[in-house]
Amino acid sequence: MFDDLMNFTARQINSDLKKKKYSAKELLDYIYKKIEKYDKDLNTFITLTPEIAYTQAEILDKKINAGEEISDIAGAPVGIKDNICISEVKTTCGSKILSNFISPYDAYIVQKMNAAGMLFIGKMNMDEFAMGSSNETSYFGIVKNPWNKNKIPGGSSGGSAAAVAARLVPLSLGSDTGGSIRQPASLCGVVGLKPTYGRVSRFGLIAFASSLDQIGPFSNTVEDNALLLQTIAGHDHQDSTSVNLEIPNYLENLKQDINGWKIGLPKEYFGAGLSASVRKVITKAIEQFEKKLGCEIVEINLPSSEYAISVYYILATAEASSNLARYDGVKYGYRTETYENLIDMYERTRSEGFGDEIKRRIMLGTYTLSAGYYDAYYKKAQKVRTLIKNDFDKALKKCDLILTPTAPSTAFAIGEKTANPLEMYLSDIYTISVNLAGIPAISIPCGFSEDDNMPVGLQLIGNVFEETKIYNAAYKFEQLNDYYKKTPKL
Ligand code: GLN
Repeated sequence: MFDDLMNFTARQINSDLKKKKYSAKELLDYIYKKIEKYDKDLNTFITLTPEIAYTQAEILDKKINAGEEISDIAGAPVGIKDNICISEVKTTCGSKILSNFISPYDAYIVQKMNAAGMLFIGKMNMDEFAMGSSNETSYFGIVKNPWNKNKIPGGSSGGSAAAVAARLVPLSLGSDTGGSIRQPASLCGVVGLKPTYGRVSRFGLIAFASSLDQIGPFSNTVEDNALLLQTIAGHDHQDSTSVNLEIPNYLENLKQDINGWKIGLPKEYFGAGLSASVRKVITKAIEQFEKKLGCEIVEINLPSSEYAISVYYILATAEASSNLARYDGVKYGYRTETYENLIDMYERTRSEGFGDEIKRRIMLGTYTLSAGYYDAYYKKAQKVRTLIKNDFDKALKKCDLILTPTAPSTAFAIGEKTANPLEMYLSDIYTISVNLAGIPAISIPCGFSEDDNMPVGLQLIGNVFEETKIYNAAYKFEQLNDYYKKTPKL
């Protein structure tokens, strides 16, 4: 019955359900069986939530059988990154310190997806507190890349990306603070979008670096991605940074011609750090934009990009050190078993509950925020952040969208970079500035490397609230190539 779920898109599932080709319950049986078969090895899920999904399916099947109207995303199975709260479900953030935490409430976007009739399959594995680029810092074990199980899926939303690539779920949600949606999307060969800061409510997203964090969708196709953003976007009074702006119809303009659009190539993004095989694939994609889609390629400059990694690791760690102060073993989460007094309890809880990468960042962050160093590091970094934003403002006056590689290389081997944090941090060199500037960007599959046959992603960056334009160009490119029809052998 499900053999014809060829590309496993939310769109197709929704239309099949409406035509009663199968029921939502039958769909869940199929999905959970598939997960049981393949996820032992891939490890993309931390928690499965069949109690919720089957209840949602029952409600939906009743509606369909009663001839009631259902939304265009109803029945779409979704995996939710484990830093997004679902009421009465364990929400671990990939950490030991929250390994027993049951959320007492739903994130805003979870309420919206539930109201739209989506099916919550489970919570996705991730780097601890979303800090990482390889999903190797998770307390719940590494995630494997479905295209080659000796390789990392990228991070921090590694579980979300790998599960979509493996067709365990057609849709998932991640969070992106410096690249954590786009980089794993690129390395797993799926579509991942980081929306404009403020487009999607962060209420119920466990904070890493609040001025950078943004929730966004993963999918196999651009259309599915737009559909999910449409469902989760919007103003929420519970998040003071969520904007009260009209939500465009992201699906309406997908198919429009992009003939004559100016695509900007920042020369800083095509320098020495870019692997030759990735460069080759991206160059071919640029040619397609020019020759097949009729775009004009223009050179642009983003001169402050060279400071992006340094600025990010000052600001993100500063914010993280403050956000993570709440995990002290008192109100919720893990508490050490034996201790002598309150201070000793705090110290032991945090020493035992946090992994090495988290401790490194808390130390860095408290240092840059300390009285003697605040001006030299934190304040200076804030100023450079403005310069980075100004670069994008200027560049986006000269072009419609900016095109770059998403990541400097394809997925690397498990363990390859764990001993070298600096090298790991460079995985986000092309994505981090976008978060600092608060603008939206997508990663879409654009081919496979001839070196290792692993997927390569390209990034399209737009101006604030121009997700519609990004989706439009991404869709046109996708239609030329249909990379999403190629699936990994599990
Ligand atoms: N890899 C980056 C980091 O480790 C970005 C993480 C993210 O976007 N959550 O901080």
